[in-house]
Amino acid sequence: MTSDEYNDCGPVSGWDLHCHTVFSDGTKTPAELIDLACTSGLHGVAITDHDTTAGWREAQQAAESQGFPLLRGSEITAQDGHVSVHMLAYQYDPENEGIVELFRSTRQARLERARRMVSRLSKDFPITWDDVTAQTKKGENTTVGRPHMADALVAAGFYRTRSEAFAGAISSSSKYYIPTPSPTALRVVQVVRLAGGVSVVAHPCDYSRNRVLLSDSQIRRLADAGLDGLEVWHRGNGDDGRRRLLKLADELDLLVTGGSDWHGAGKPNKLGENVTADDVVAQIVQRGAAGMVA
Ligand code: AMP
Ligand code: FE
Ligand code: FE
Ligand code: ZN
Repeated sequence: MTSDEYNDCGPVSGWDLHCHTVFSDGTKTPAELIDLACTSGLHGVAITDHDTTAGWREAQQAAESQGFPLLRGSEITAQDGHVSVHMLAYQYDPENEGIVELFRSTRQARLERARRMVSRLSKDFPITWDDVTAQTKKGENTTVGRPHMADALVAAGFYRTRSEAFAGAISSSSKYYIPTPSPTALRVVQVVRLAGGVSVVAHPCDYSRNRVLLSDSQIRRLADAGLDGLEVWHRGNGDDGRRRLLKLADELDLLVTGGSDWHGAGKPNKLGENVTADDVVAQIVQRGAAGMVA
């Protein structure tokens, strides 16, 4: 693999390392992700559903049958003090006990939190838990989140789109909101590392999801614990944020990654709108326990 050319938005070609499917809050299947990635000019793609590996098998089968390169990963819900943190993890052993337990407890916490939020919402918007589960395309294998509550509110006619619901009742500043109890980012770094994986802080400077961002010292602490990289090329990070992250990555010798955070029709983000350079992907593959597919 060769090193890529860069412009202000990162590498001009490479891999999209941040994609969601119906196994969490995306609207397309893993096979549809691979089909689309194949025709989009991407060099490869990663599946990164929230807190699960349930889509890996289907993605792997599609990637192998198309001969298209795939990394297997997840986006793990975490927190560091009062800051909600998303961690991208790649190429770990999906049967590792620490990872299995991490996902089991987060998924259980997500279910309990979602039921409580729906009960709050139902006082003003007559939707039921069944209305929310009706929006999960893979039943219990779907990681449930606010997007499915948003979809239920859209189906019931309260909002026109998921994004409108997120600007209203589903917002983290609404009176119905309840956070998901999550493992610390430090624990996630350690668990992913023990499972042979590579960890990257997702969209660290996205003010649309965090009023307070991770500080430099919080990122340094994660790097000391074995964090591998920072997702710099993401639409949520502003110009100042990108500059800050690039400086930190340089200082701490962290990988610089990029991804679209594609959710199919669930978000405006376009597949491949941000990418990771081929040489960075090569380092992720080299560090990770699981081989690259195709
Ligand atoms: P949760 O983890 O259940 O709190 O839900 C957060 C998820 O909602 C994130 O993973 C995003 O993908 C999704 N999300 C956040 N904002 C929006 C939005 N405006 N439109 C669609 N999806 C969103
Ligand atoms: Fe999401
Ligand atoms: Fe995220
Ligand atoms: Zn994401």
